[in-house]
Amino acid sequence: MTPHPTDPRISGVHRAFDRRAFLAAVTAVAAGALVPEGLAAALPQHARAAVQGSRRRIADRAGLEALVLGTAQDAGFPQVGCYTPRCERGRAEHREGRGRYVSSLALVDPEAERFYLVDATPDITRQIDAIEAPAFRRRAGERRPFDGIFLTHAHIGHYTGLALLGNEGLGIRDTPVYCTAAMADFLSSEQPWAFLVEQGRIVPTPLETGRWHSIDGVFDVQLWPVPHRDEFADTVGFLFRGPSASLLFLPDIDSWAAWERDLGEVVRSVDVALLDGSFWSIDELPGRSMDDLPHPLMRSTMDRLQAVVDSGEAGRVVFTHLNNSNPALDEGGPEQAEVARRGFEIAREGMRFSL
Ligand SMILES: [Zn+2]
Ligand SMILES: [Zn+2]
Repeated sequence: MTPHPTDPRISGVHRAFDRRAFLAAVTAVAAGALVPEGLAAALPQHARAAVQGSRRRIADRAGLEALVLGTAQDAGFPQVGCYTPRCERGRAEHREGRGRYVSSLALVDPEAERFYLVDATPDITRQIDAIEAPAFRRRAGERRPFDGIFLTHAHIGHYTGLALLGNEGLGIRDTPVYCTAAMADFLSSEQPWAFLVEQGRIVPTPLETGRWHSIDGVFDVQLWPVPHRDEFADTVGFLFRGPSASLLFLPDIDSWAAWERDLGEVVRSVDVALLDGSFWSIDELPGRSMDDLPHPLMRSTMDRLQAVVDSGEAGRVVFTHLNNSNPALDEGGPEQAEVARRGFEIAREGMRFSL
């Protein structure tokens, strides 16, 4: 039986490990290294799953993974018409083949030929090239690359990529789009999205919030409502639960204090939490006060979670959805060093999490 993410057994496992050993092992796995047996045995369940997942790729099969397709705020990195030194570095990273795209995930099981997209961004054309499985490319040729698409909300970075899957682009067919009832209504009633529905390309599939739904028997998902600027529909985070681990994808929230859930409890109960890392500090927002910030600040999120991370009870806490003003985008910079020193991570394109 798959343990429930709020199952105390998972917390118990978290409590028993050394976070630095875990991060070192995960980094080694990400780099393609084999982790020594002794260290693998000492790792908590979710870290062992990552290690074993890596090994299965060689010996057996990888199973279900979340693949990071993008890590930037809605308007991307660099942003249009932005020529700050940071955005110019973003352009250079694209030229070097290591650019950042708008925050998104793919859930992939290449050998079972299962592929899901989590948020459809304006960068979709280039970012799904990261799904290199021949089965995915064959299925794209058949106009049915994804078994389903999950959408968090109706802001441009999170759903407008659907436009490129329509008539003038890939021309997908019969693809369920999993979202809230309000988001499904929005897609079915507002052009040009309603045209995708009329043509049978996407099938808005509302899922009730706050309870488990099985998706094709491949994994389970819960939709967690979050407070956010909801001009067109509402906003959720997705909690995915695979055979071996759970992952929360929560790229946008107004503030942790306004949320009905306790963030410390949340990161204790999941194996990986991908969280809103839009801004680093108030300095990025000239003229704004702490009271009218549209997002939590990375530094205050780390302050809020530091005790639970230091206690070893937390799963991996990984920031995503970085705004083009965020100095944590600077590769090798002091902000990235602070994040790592404090036991947190910053998402990067190509990261994989075994589920
Ligand atoms: Zn966003
Ligand atoms: Zn948003």
